[in-house]
Amino acid sequence: MKRIEALEVLAELTAQHPVVVTCAATSRELASVKDSDNHLYLLDSMGLVGSVMTGLALGRDASLPKVVGLEGDGSLLMNPNVLPTGGYLKPEMLMVLLDNEVYGSTAGLPTYSSEVNVEELAAAAGWATGRAPDQQSLRSEYARLLQVTGRPGFLHVPIEAGNAAEIPKLLIDPVRITHRFSRWLASADKPSGSRETVAE
Ligand SMILES: [Mg+2]
Repeated sequence: MKRIEALEVLAELTAQHPVVVTCAATSRELASVKDSDNHLYLLDSMGLVGSVMTGLALGRDASLPKVVGLEGDGSLLMNPNVLPTGGYLKPEMLMVLLDNEVYGSTAGLPTYSSEVNVEELAAAAGWATGRAPDQQSLRSEYARLLQVTGRPGFLHVPIEAGNAAEIPKLLIDPVRITHRFSRWLASADKPSGSRETVAE
């Protein structure tokens, strides 16, 4: 499965969720599939998806959809302490790890995930884990892990190395990304159908 094929499924599955997205190719490809106010693209903030989603999840009203993080292997392994932090604090959230075993934005250099099983790391830290190597299992494991209570979920998604061709740069001002995400989050507790469209 290519990254963009996983993102096509995830864009649909996360439509009602706050979504924290790792930088570079993952943010660009998701925005090319679907750009939405519920996407918080962490431009140039490698390693921080787990930290940001943990904060959001701890502050989340339990009646609202779970926080979902779309993380990459290189980014997670830059800041792997988010795994024991999640196991200790037990925020109810779901991290989807798109793992191609390389730094996709820097010439495909290998990451530690080519040797280190990050799913086992997450499980050892107390996360509920699953694995989804194709679009069908991505849908079923995502749905299963979304139902987990009392601890965070970790969905390991092996993907092919390489980036999608002809994806435009993501040039939305980070301040605007944060503003529209904050507005979306503030309106998310309103009844379905009354959610405001953020004026830009
Ligand atoms: Mg990678």
